[in-house]
Amino acid sequence: MKYRTLLLFGAPGSGKGTQGKILGTIPNFFHCSCGDVFRNLTIDNELGRIFLEYSSKGQLVPDEPTIELWRKNIQAQTTFGRFNPERDTLLLDGIPRNPQQAEMLKDTIDVKSVFYLSCPDMTKLVERLQRRALRENRLDDANLDVIRDRLQTYERDTKPVLEFYGPKLVYNIDSTQSPVNVLQDILKVVAKTAS
Ligand code: ADP
Repeated sequence: MKYRTLLLFGAPGSGKGTQGKILGTIPNFFHCSCGDVFRNLTIDNELGRIFLEYSSKGQLVPDEPTIELWRKNIQAQTTFGRFNPERDTLLLDGIPRNPQQAEMLKDTIDVKSVFYLSCPDMTKLVERLQRRALRENRLDDANLDVIRDRLQTYERDTKPVLEFYGPKLVYNIDSTQSPVNVLQDILKVVAKTAS
């Protein structure tokens, strides 16, 4: 059985995590942030070290270990009873992050909608990431060169995921709005498609 899935999509700093956390508190929705799964690894774990090596340079972790870790995590969440695939809608944030990952997950997730949190203003994204560096203790947000590399990785590797799913599934959401208005725009679609 494939997981019923909504994707939160957008550049680093576009607000995927903020929205995912809120939406994940609604009954029958389960939020899974791939970045958080990586950050919960420890440094004595080999993949934890690989994650640090890549994320500190603004690059993506290779696809195979990423997808394997994600699968293990979602299975663990199911075993613990936090995620119930029969009942819950999965809100994915930060995965799939390139078309190859989308292909690898094709038989596992049934993507119903893609919420594209678009932010044409690069300086706004950079500002948000720099603020987050201190608030959330994120090393990869602390350095301007790394931020630039991440934004470039997003443009080059991640954005083509939108074409993978096609225009019928993609909803454009203006992420320069305040979080409450972004939430409202997402909820309008979620409420309509759930009924
Ligand atoms: P952001 O969206 O702000 O860049 P994330 O927390 O989603 O932050 O990701 C942080 C880092 O974790 C990424 O820059 C990347 O190195 C790694 N990462 C997260 N998700 C993936 C993924 N699906 N594939 C490869 N690397 C990932």
